[in-house]
Amino acid sequence: MTRVGVNGYGTIGKRVADAVTAQPDMDLVGVAKTRPNFEAETATRKGYPLYAAVTDRADRFADAGLELAGTADDLVAASDVIVDCTPSGVGAENAALYADHDTPAIFQGGENADVADVSFNARGNYAEAVGADSARVVSCNTTGLSRILTPLDETYGVEKARVTLVRRGGDPGQTGRGPIDDILPDPVTIPSHHGPDVNTVLPGIDIDTLGMKVPATLMHTHSVNVTLDSAADASDVVDLFENERRLFVIPPSADIDGAGKLKEFADDADRPRGDLWENCIWEASITVEGRDCYLFQAIHQESDVVPENIDAVRALRGDADAEESMTTTDESMGMGFGYRG
Ligand code: NAD
Repeated sequence: MTRVGVNGYGTIGKRVADAVTAQPDMDLVGVAKTRPNFEAETATRKGYPLYAAVTDRADRFADAGLELAGTADDLVAASDVIVDCTPSGVGAENAALYADHDTPAIFQGGENADVADVSFNARGNYAEAVGADSARVVSCNTTGLSRILTPLDETYGVEKARVTLVRRGGDPGQTGRGPIDDILPDPVTIPSHHGPDVNTVLPGIDIDTLGMKVPATLMHTHSVNVTLDSAADASDVVDLFENERRLFVIPPSADIDGAGKLKEFADDADRPRGDLWENCIWEASITVEGRDCYLFQAIHQESDVVPENIDAVRALRGDADAEESMTTTDESMGMGFGYRG
């Protein structure tokens, strides 16, 4: 069993911790929190040992009636792999702690690529992380793009990808973020950072990205145009995606018109927190004109990176190859909707 610690128990960390507990080959050592808020209480209720991320704030947990198992240092010492789920930039500050303990570490997409030995997407480049000391699971958007560009490149070759990312202003719990009444080019300069980030996983893909931000919280939406090396048929692209793990091709008969209904669908399917770990690609949007393939996909920013974190643990440990790991992850989490419409 691989003992996994989660440092940072927020949007991503709580989902990663739950996914770890679902794995047949992993044990959750515990989770580190900076303060005793509702999420710390949730961790305790779930029976996850709680560690103080900031040692001199440990008293606050006792004051809130929450028992601590130790400090972040203790958590790292007791873990075979640590998954850092702290806010952007904090992971880089924590890197020395993990190195001091010689504990392999996984970082998130908010960190710069140089925080880790390799930037990681299970479908894109699993093998490159095998045996590495550290990996950075790329952002939700980069994960979503890597999952579709990899099979398109393997099957047809990708001459050029052009993607406009219409991004949610903030997660539902991020009450301070916006815009609340505007549509922003963000960044206004082109390309946005997303294309170069895809290249940290798939260096051979020629991709330009444009970013926007809108007053929404539920999901991102991508408008994708990929010029393929060889001509394709739209129905073959649909088949290709339907046979890929972690891609949900939304059948027209489902009558799902946007992120609201996608989240409703996930809730109805009893997904934890209404999570959609898969890219959600509208079948009706998959269009091919000559060598130009077009589609719309929605990406659930809070959850699509979660299975990738689990695979990254196995890759660093060298415990399984990509196919074995993804199969175990997907079966244990309950990936896929089996919906053909
Ligand atoms: P979050 O703010 O929801 O959670 C971060 C947690 O870490 C919070 O509970 C915070 O209190 C805690 N924390 C702060 N400093 C800490 C420290 N020094 N030690 C331990 N814990 C600390 O953030 P998030 O959305 O989960 O993002 C985490 C990482 O995942 C970031 O790199 C982010 O870019 C990336 N990411 C976020 C999303 C998303 O949409 N939320 C999607 C993909 C990747």
